[in-house]
Amino acid sequence: MKCLIIGGGLAGMASAVWLAEKGHQVTLLEKRGSLGGRTIAIPQTAVDDIPDNGQHVFASGYEYLLRFLDSIGTRQHVCFPGHMGVRMPGGEFRQTAFWGLGGLRIALGDLPCVHGLDKLRTARAQARMFAQAIRQPADLDQITAEEWFNRVGLPEAARKAMWDGIVVGLTGDKPAISSAKVPADLFATGMRQAVRMRTPVSIGYPTVDLDTLFVRSSERTFVRLGVQVRTRAPVRHVDVDNGKVRGVTLLDGEQIEADCVICAVQVWRVRGLLDQVPEHATIYRAVEQLTAVPIVSVNLYLDRDIGMQDWGEVLYGGEGVLEQVWDRQRMHGRKADKTWFFSTTVSAAYELIKGTNQEITDRQMAVLRRYYPAAREAKVIHSHIVRMPHSTFAQRPGTAGVRPLQRTSVKGLALAGDWTRTDWTTTMEGACQSAARAVAVVLA
Ligand SMILES: Cc1cc2nc3c(=O)[nH]c(=O)nc-3n(C[C@H](O)[C@H](O)[C@H](O)COP(=O)(O)OP(=O)(O)OC[C@H]3O[C@@H](n4cnc5c(N)ncnc54)[C@H](O)[C@@H]3O)c2cc1C
Repeated sequence: MKCLIIGGGLAGMASAVWLAEKGHQVTLLEKRGSLGGRTIAIPQTAVDDIPDNGQHVFASGYEYLLRFLDSIGTRQHVCFPGHMGVRMPGGEFRQTAFWGLGGLRIALGDLPCVHGLDKLRTARAQARMFAQAIRQPADLDQITAEEWFNRVGLPEAARKAMWDGIVVGLTGDKPAISSAKVPADLFATGMRQAVRMRTPVSIGYPTVDLDTLFVRSSERTFVRLGVQVRTRAPVRHVDVDNGKVRGVTLLDGEQIEADCVICAVQVWRVRGLLDQVPEHATIYRAVEQLTAVPIVSVNLYLDRDIGMQDWGEVLYGGEGVLEQVWDRQRMHGRKADKTWFFSTTVSAAYELIKGTNQEITDRQMAVLRRYYPAAREAKVIHSHIVRMPHSTFAQRPGTAGVRPLQRTSVKGLALAGDWTRTDWTTTMEGACQSAARAVAVVLA
């Protein structure tokens, strides 16, 4: 078949590789000047480095993403150390292990700053949450994650220590506005995957920049498999004829014919592309319910070490905003001969994103100084700020089931992208699982 893929993010690149592996003739159309979508590195000549647009972490259950890395030959660049850190204001550090004794301590409610009877209440509430994730109460999509926490009796201290951060990390949004069904579904998926893959739930990270991990290796694979890549080729709409896909029309009017098309653009770019698809109004309505969440990432090059004890540390007490610090020396084996590189991520950064570069840098340095005594005298050599107002999408209560399937009513046309229906939310794994499903649809 002659196949067209619209969008060169993870969903589009994985679709292209997997269709080409089956012997089909594939052309990938990307609107921007380069591939990678939301997973890219941005070179910084001032410090001769290539930091990412934002730290991307992996879950051990990311089956399709790891399969994609196998296809492009970079799986060896992902590491699952089995632990992360929690950092208190003033500098106290506590390591969180995902399995073994460390995991047991968490299950028993032994979280930072959770004391006395609250430990017991936390253990009981956590057990209830996991039970309800598997056998979900009928109204879980009608309440927020915060209301769910209250219902199962999770103490405020446990929320502050871990659970608010987990919800922001998983759903992209604050517990007070995110549907409780989103984290519940993810807990269920995580547990199912852990059993199926016989791997305890764990968080990992790439040991190289995102261009090396995803983009350069995909480009090499495209050359090997004969995939044609056209950048600066924005698609205006998908062309449909008599219930069958005919190809696409580019913004400049060029028409390209094809036997099948996979549309793998972001949720906020899909409007207009599918006007000729009979169910386009339903898809566009669904799209409106997936609201964009901002992430601000700051790549800080400092004149000294700040004394992190783990590769990634969550800052205690984010008050509904997840704040994390990443040690690129540890993660990438980076030599700190001229500068020390730490990156910070603030998810659900509705307020921070409005700041100027200087304000954001000052604010992040103030945070580091509060949590890391060794950062008090640190000087910023270079600061690189990545504001992404459209980073991930959030699902508010009442939106369960709105994400469209990959299959459309048009023969030869499938949808892909992290926003289409998968076992995951807005993640790299969601993007790759959607690609696998879209490829299956067009092959069928
Ligand atoms: C800062 C940040 C941190 C994140 N952290 C994590 C994390 O820790 N773990 C995790 O799993 N996920 C994380 N994510 C989410 C993850 O990056 C995304 O879910 C995933 O990359 C989405 O891939 P995609 O292919 O669906 O979309 P995209 O990567 O957005 O790709 C869509 C592509 O379509 C192109 N396009 C759009 N319109 C057109 C058109 N008309 N014609 C042609 N091309 C078009 C775009 O230019 C883009 O390249 C994070 C995201 C951000 C931004």
